[in-house]
Amino acid sequence: MKNFTPEQSIRDVQHFGEEGGVVPVIDVAATSTFLNPADMERTFSGELQGCYLYSRHSNPTVNFFGKKIAAMEGTEAALGVASGMAAISCAVEQIFRNETKSGRGHIIASQTVYGGTYALFHNIFPSRGIDVTFVDIRDLAAIEASITPETKIIYSETLSNPLLAVCDIKALSALCKKHNLKLVIDNTFAPMIVRPYELGADVVVHSCTKYISGASDMIAGAICGDQPFISSLIDVNHGSVMLNGPVMDPRIAHELYLRLDHLSIRMKAHSDMALFLAQKMEEKNLKVIYPGLKSHPQHELYQMMGANRIGHGGVLTLVCQDAEKARILATKLQDEKFGLYAVSLGFSRTLMSCSAKSTSSEIPEEERKKMGLEEGLLRFSIGYTGDPQVMWERFWKCYN
Ligand code: PLP
Repeated sequence: MKNFTPEQSIRDVQHFGEEGGVVPVIDVAATSTFLNPADMERTFSGELQGCYLYSRHSNPTVNFFGKKIAAMEGTEAALGVASGMAAISCAVEQIFRNETKSGRGHIIASQTVYGGTYALFHNIFPSRGIDVTFVDIRDLAAIEASITPETKIIYSETLSNPLLAVCDIKALSALCKKHNLKLVIDNTFAPMIVRPYELGADVVVHSCTKYISGASDMIAGAICGDQPFISSLIDVNHGSVMLNGPVMDPRIAHELYLRLDHLSIRMKAHSDMALFLAQKMEEKNLKVIYPGLKSHPQHELYQMMGANRIGHGGVLTLVCQDAEKARILATKLQDEKFGLYAVSLGFSRTLMSCSAKSTSSEIPEEERKKMGLEEGLLRFSIGYTGDPQVMWERFWKCYN
């Protein structure tokens, strides 16, 4: 599996429907029958593995999806969960539970993460005994200086939301190995493009709400890693997914299972359209940030991490003079049918939002300033629908 590309690995996952159908059936059962009561007892005690028990523990359709997304990420196993936030909170909680008796400790996180992740780490984790230090994830010396005896995890996004800084997963992994830490990477912005696990991450999380869904019609998440870790998430006595309960519905799992087959095609289409528009913006001397542009400070690093194959993803940012200018531009762009003013990303159509006032508003203003997140930053999740030249003309008409 490891030597194949994500698209080939996904291609090679095959499950049949009960009557030989080319797609598996959706198994909606909430609970499963045991022919022998003793097996139920042995399943609860952990002595017997692999039995379907109750759908919060495991479900055949969710498992099929898990196998396919694990193939994409090149991990041994994966678990679908209810949302990206469920993936992040359960993965982190489980690592602390597995690594320490108390489930408490310290995490070093990139200072530029999705606002919800920042709020979870900053506002909720300390009350659960998990302290956080936010750092510039490109500054390895600062990270190493922040490590304490309690540190168990380094956490980052492959591409930071919304500044699009690339994190050097190999270098972070080396640091983690040196200090016996786990590296958790949120790969929501770069599925099919980067495989963090192959670069040394221990656990990879996704908001499947974004590219993996591709239709902005559901909320879902996934946790990818080695088999013992994924099994520990559903342990009946200690599993963070089993006991907090944010499981994936089998109907959602079935949808996502099918959509993974065309994810690489969609990622390429997003990337092509985003690169075209970013280049046009750069030609006009606009302040555009896109990792596919040679002017991006970590363009080469991102290429080396895998972005030379499918492209660089669909998110670009444009720094406008101030928040008001960004709002005015976004309103015109929406009126011109360039895109929709909505949070989220990965939709077939372009979505736009002013990050400082929306998906990064959870990060205090002072912190945003420190990391260089300007008030006028407009984030675009570039869709692949439409004619690139027409979309550019619409953009330029509104910008001027
Ligand atoms: N991770 C990243 C990078 C995100 O952008 C988001 C949501 O915007 C999440 C995680 C949370 O995902 P969800 O909304 O599916 O819970």
